[in-house]
Formats: sequence, C-alpha cells, structure tokens
Amino acid sequence: MINKERVSKRLSELGEIGKNQETGGLTRHAFTKEDRLAKDLVAKYMKEAGLTVREDAVGNMIGRREGRNPQAPVVLTGSHIDTVCDGGKYDGSLGIIGALEVLQTFNEQGIETEHPIEVYAFNDEEGSRFSFSMFGSRGVIGDLKRKDLEMKDKNGITVAEAMKAQGFDPERISEADRSREAIKAFIELHIEQGKVLESHNLSVGIVSGIVNELWIKCTVQGEAGHAGATPMSMRHDALVAAAEMVQVVDREAKKTGTTVATVGRLSVLPGGINIIPGTVQFTLDLRDTSQEISDRVEAQIFKEFDRVCQERGVTLSTELLQRIPPAPCTEEFRQVAQKACPEAGVPYFSLPSGAGHDAMQMINICPIGMIFVRSKDGISHNPLEYSTLEDCADGINVLYHILLDIAVKA
Ligand SMILES: [Zn+2]
Repeated sequence: MINKERVSKRLSELGEIGKNQETGGLTRHAFTKEDRLAKDLVAKYMKEAGLTVREDAVGNMIGRREGRNPQAPVVLTGSHIDTVCDGGKYDGSLGIIGALEVLQTFNEQGIETEHPIEVYAFNDEEGSRFSFSMFGSRGVIGDLKRKDLEMKDKNGITVAEAMKAQGFDPERISEADRSREAIKAFIELHIEQGKVLESHNLSVGIVSGIVNELWIKCTVQGEAGHAGATPMSMRHDALVAAAEMVQVVDREAKKTGTTVATVGRLSVLPGGINIIPGTVQFTLDLRDTSQEISDRVEAQIFKEFDRVCQERGVTLSTELLQRIPPAPCTEEFRQVAQKACPEAGVPYFSLPSGAGHDAMQMINICPIGMIFVRSKDGISHNPLEYSTLEDCADGINVLYHILLDIAVKA
C-alpha cells in the first residue's frame, strides 16, 4: 500500500525547514525565506509524485495529476505549508505529504482516475505573520480584498510589500481565484490537535464539520463604591454579576452536549483591593458545528444575562468581534468515509473540528471533507506536537480510499 518510509523521510526533511535548534519547534511564516525553501521542497516531492507543478498568484504551491477526462471537475486535496511561531512538524505538513503519498502510490499501482486531482500546499493558513489567517485559501475562493494586502507584520511590512519581495505581483491575486470552476470536492487530512481520538483509543477520525466561531466582548456596568462603607444590600457589584454570567455560559453550553463556550479574558475595573468592582469586561467564545444550536445557546445565554442584570441592578453592553459560520462536511463525503475507513483497516468514528482550517474557506466553492489523525496528548502549535508514523499512515490510507472512491468514478 502506501510507502511509510517515504512519508517518514519527507516529514523529517520538511520538519527541518524553519527549525529552531534549541526548542525543536518550527517557524515558517508567509513570504519568508523558510516559506520559500519549504515550498521548493514540496515542489520537488510533487515532481517525484509525477505531478505537474505550478505556483499561483497568492503563493499556493499546486501539483496536478491528470484524469482520463481533463474536463471533469477537479478533486482538490492538501493542507497548509506555513506554521505558527515554534510550531510542530505535523500541523499542515501531514496533509500535503499524505496527499502526495496517495498520488505517488496511484502512479506506482497504475491507477487511473476519471477526475484530475490537485494537491494544494496552501500559503499562510495560520496568519501568524500578518494576523490575517487563511490567505492562500481565501485567494482560491476569490475572497481577497485590496485592503487585506495592507495588513502589516510586526515590522510594519505590508502583505503587498512582502509579496513583492518574494517576486509576487499583488495586482494579480485574482488569478488564484477558482470559484468559477467546477470543483468536485476538497478533502483535507490534518492532525486532530485535541484529545478526543486519543481518549477513544483511535488513530483516525472523520470530521463531521468545522465549528463556527462566535466572539463577543461583554461589558458589565455596575457601581463602584467603598468596600467598607457600602452595605451588601446596597451594592451593584459588576464582578459578582459577571461571575454569575460565567456560570451561565458554562451551564448553557453543557446542556447541548456539542457546544463549547469559553470566557477566556476578564478584566475588573477599577481593580482596587478596597473598591467594589464598577465595570467588568469579559469575552465570550462560543462554538458548535450546528449554526442552529449555536444560535439557540447564544439566545439562551443572553436571556440569562438579562435576568442577572435585573437581579443585580447592573447593565450589559456587547460588541460583536467575529461571527464565522460553521462548515459542515457533506453527507456524501461521510458516506464515502464510512466505506473507506474499514477498507483502510480502521473503524469509522466521527467527531467535530474545534479549530479552523482551510476547508472552512473552501466550503464556499465546493463540498468539503476532513480526516483527523490522533495527536499525542492533544498537543499542537508546540514543538512537542507528535503523531506516530502508524497513525499518520492510517490517515493517509483512509485518504487513499476516499480519493479512490471520489476521483475514479465518473
Ligand atoms: Zn493546521
């Protein structure tokens, strides 16, 4: 079947580019020397896999394998080539190397497909340099705006300037757009970055969908006062109200069994040891694979917040920071995966993705599917990120059977 040694060798080689010798972590940001070296190495692997290689106008490296019918809708696969600061060697890289391994195996086995297949090594998924994520896949769906190119890195260099320095023409970004083409599907293999598969003792999982991301900043306004001179009955303590609200968030999210909600930041003002808190600001991060459930939990949370406000004599104001809809994997993909998993020798198990991925953008132009590989201790975005070669091979074998199913038949 697939060649595990080749996968291992390529993961190690690619894992050397941008490596910090002290921490062992990788830093490969968009439009840098490291990024260039990594993409050139991937281009070499693409040629070894018999693919026709090109780089598009936004810096995605693409390898194409023709099908019997060049006019048939193309099947896309792959993942991102960039990393966070001091990240691991599996996040992103596994999806690229895994997809190349599948196509190289197809060649070695003389397998012809009806549909052309293209492997994308997406540029800048993490957004670590310009605080703007999924640049490459946004380019593919035609969602990059002129103002996006004005985003600056910490040295004040804009995306446009960084592109020019690497020989790209920012005026031509629309050439990467494939939204008007017929695309059969985008399938991404990725590490889980969580502990669900490990806790079920499974090497591979099929993603049911990528959760939405709702971020709201909440400000509770009470009344500051002297901690000694104000009797308990006369207080409008913003922190006591906020503490109850945090409990509400936890309680309402738990009710559904699928929702996750987090208050990750909380500040108390004026912040004196002897002052009753007058203002509290906190953030709400709410996610679910179902927009409907997310909306329902959101509504219930704010209904409860209103009750707390009335009981405590405080007011609440909110600011919406981000509302990205969920990206469900298609039913057709799940059916294909249900067949592919036993063929690859692993049980079928479905789980949601709590993190964002390029597939979240690609769903705007085609159906998506994702395969997760177990992460040791759930660790990711960290030099300790690790998946065993056996687990990686299981994931690649599932991708092999899925691509075989999707791309071979007309
Ligand atoms: Zn990733």
